[in-house]
Amino acid sequence: MDRRRFTGVLLGGAAALASSRLRAQLRTPAAETFGIVPFIGVAERAVRDVDAALRAGLGVETRTLPEAVLFSATWNIPHDRWDVGQVIATARGLMQPPLTRVVGVVATDISPTFPSVCDWRLGDYDRTGLAVSVFRCERNARDETQVRFRLASAALHLAAHSLGMLHCPDTACVMVRARGDLRVIDRTSGRLCMNCHTRLGILAARAGAA
Ligand SMILES: [Zn+2]
Ligand SMILES: [Zn+2]
Repeated sequence: MDRRRFTGVLLGGAAALASSRLRAQLRTPAAETFGIVPFIGVAERAVRDVDAALRAGLGVETRTLPEAVLFSATWNIPHDRWDVGQVIATARGLMQPPLTRVVGVVATDISPTFPSVCDWRLGDYDRTGLAVSVFRCERNARDETQVRFRLASAALHLAAHSLGMLHCPDTACVMVRARGDLRVIDRTSGRLCMNCHTRLGILAARAGAA
């Protein structure tokens, strides 16, 4: 084997090892399965984007549930829109084994729960799941691609929060603090940074040991 080829094999081996380590970190011992609940009026593509974001970004399993409706109890009267905490509670009511968490996807505007730990304001989360609003992702968006990026990033961000992840100082990381500024969200890579990947692995290991 010539020297250049040998180096190539070596580098390939190192990359494969790094990626298998990453997969090992991401594999949650108590496997998480997120149930995605599309609420009435949500486009199928939005559901597929959320599904892909969670599978690729967190390495979790997903199941898409049938379309659900929002009830009047979910309406936040002073804010004149759906209460995101109630949306999550409604989705949670549809949970069945093997689902461990739920994701409500809503076409309309929502009121993030106040006070919220998360400052993205495209949805919100609790320990049982999350909800995202397509309407909120559409605000001042330059095109459909940007709306889809925001929705996928918000779903990944909030799902990671629901697993115990905190905000990250890396401005390219999808776990960055946004202070409600969509420009901050638009500038991220839409993915977890290496530090967050490692942290997620540690959390998963702890969850498995608990
Ligand atoms: Zn957040
Ligand atoms: Zn990060």
